[in-house]
Amino acid sequence: MVSTVPNSSINLSYVRHDIRALQPHLVEWRRQFHQKPELGFQEKLTADFISQKLQEWGIEHHTGIAETGIVAIINGKSEAKVLAIRADMDALPIQELNEVPYRSQHDGVMHACGHDGHTAIALGTAYYLHHHRESFTGTVKIIFQPAEEGPGGAKPMIEAGVLQTPDVDAIIGLHLWNNMPLGTVGVRAGALMAAVELFRCQIFGKGGHGAIPHQTIDSVVVAAQIVNALQTIVARNVNPIDSAVVTVGELHAGTAKNVIADTANMSGTVRYFNPEFAGFFHQRLEQIIAGVCQSHGANYDLEYWSLYPPVINDPGMAELVHSVAEKVVETPMGVVPECQTMGGEDMSFFLQEVPGCYFFLGSANPEKNLAYPHHHPRFDFDETVLPMGVEMFVRCVEKFFEY
Ligand SMILES: [Zn+2]
Ligand SMILES: [Zn+2]
Repeated sequence: MVSTVPNSSINLSYVRHDIRALQPHLVEWRRQFHQKPELGFQEKLTADFISQKLQEWGIEHHTGIAETGIVAIINGKSEAKVLAIRADMDALPIQELNEVPYRSQHDGVMHACGHDGHTAIALGTAYYLHHHRESFTGTVKIIFQPAEEGPGGAKPMIEAGVLQTPDVDAIIGLHLWNNMPLGTVGVRAGALMAAVELFRCQIFGKGGHGAIPHQTIDSVVVAAQIVNALQTIVARNVNPIDSAVVTVGELHAGTAKNVIADTANMSGTVRYFNPEFAGFFHQRLEQIIAGVCQSHGANYDLEYWSLYPPVINDPGMAELVHSVAEKVVETPMGVVPECQTMGGEDMSFFLQEVPGCYFFLGSANPEKNLAYPHHHPRFDFDETVLPMGVEMFVRCVEKFFEY
């Protein structure tokens, strides 16, 4: 499928030449995944396609890990360290609005985050490394993970032992990123993406006539005070040097203009970078909601979920990815450290276990109208980014085993 070159010829031009030759296949695979998108833990067709390709190429792999996950193992010329590469495979419950030949064939499901691209890049990386396995010393584990968009496939894969036998020394992963121009790389040491926490709160007041408020406990007034008071957590409890967000995204109460509402419901999300905040926002939310409710004689029920911790990159691994990116990107100033986002990612669970680096690969191309944001029904990315993703991974592998 791709012209192979002697294994001794691992240098910039040969590596790039060989990887660029994979481009039609990367596009074909990506479009295959795009046409058959599947939600978290249902990535059956996706996993079957990956497994079939790995089988065809003779790459050792294990399927059915955390439902639909796959781990491929590529041994170099001798055993040494183990580097893992992680790609997520799941799609979103969105109806695609793109009019492209490869548009989603599954009603109401769409690859609107680029995970189809991540999977194709990881598959291309497996193919390349397997055919050049004499050129590196060590083992590469490629982890195809389900359910990143929720409820989270990283944790169950770790619990299933994907970081063991052989034990993984470090991990890397990438996210195609339409917030950055095509061909740029976003990488930084420390926090890259935020922790994701969610809450739902129900306020129990006492309903009544809209003109006779003294006989009631107005859940709307209580809820309004809570919404405002919650904003003081970031404004007055968080060090201004740290970043955090408390968003109330839903607020529902009442049935009529002249009726005081018995109950009010709100839900929202909390984001932060500093891992020391684990547990803090939950505690402050509870204190504020309890205090406001008590002052009005209302009651409440609070549910709180800590979904994903922040994505924290190891400084050494971030430096490795940064040095590789400088070689791979072709645009001046194309390696960008100012790439933090309050979005979240369950790559964070892998990074809690082993040192690693998650990075962004710019994929937006406004000239081709490929710049819609992630999770938009018209999201799509410039497919010329795919070989660049493979080259980033391949060069990271080479560099990692050099040490
Ligand atoms: Zn997403
Ligand atoms: Zn994503």
